[in-house]
Amino acid sequence: MPDVFTKAKRSDVMSRIRSRGNANTELALVRVFRANGITGWRRQVKLVVESRESSAESRRVSSPRLSTLGSRLAVRPDFVFPKLRLAVFVDGCFWHGCPRHGTQPKGNGAFWRKKLAANVARDRRVNRALRRSGWRVLRIWEHALKWTAKQQAKGGLGAEGRLLQRVWKAMGAAGRGK
Ligand SMILES: [Zn+2]
Repeated sequence: MPDVFTKAKRSDVMSRIRSRGNANTELALVRVFRANGITGWRRQVKLVVESRESSAESRRVSSPRLSTLGSRLAVRPDFVFPKLRLAVFVDGCFWHGCPRHGTQPKGNGAFWRKKLAANVARDRRVNRALRRSGWRVLRIWEHALKWTAKQQAKGGLGAEGRLLQRVWKAMGAAGRGK
């Protein structure tokens, strides 16, 4: 990817790419929930949890999914099952460093390495903070949802079945109930 943007312009472009990509994959998961009668989820719920990590690190954090409030983090998972205390994130393969599809753009290598490593570190930090506050965390790769869409078109379960197994397993562990 040639680096044709100024830094400010690039971060503006990136934030738009991120929000659009995320909205699409979120909608794919909404379809999976609806098609399988999975209820009890909410979108874009802000959770405020304690973080024991340093405020110096906190100040560097900036993301539509996360902001800092002193020693606390305001986290916005893509989906929340409030009764189950289950937070679900749909992670884009590029932005979150998927081991299968995560790539480093050739241009401006140092910038991207730093940027993508910071994203991965932030995801781990969010997971830790949520778990310490009694939340279960489920992260689903964007590629799992792409496979799901393909399998659905063929009338099979495939990757979707495996994805749902993970969702239901996490829900079951929370004492699913109704
Ligand atoms: Zn992937």
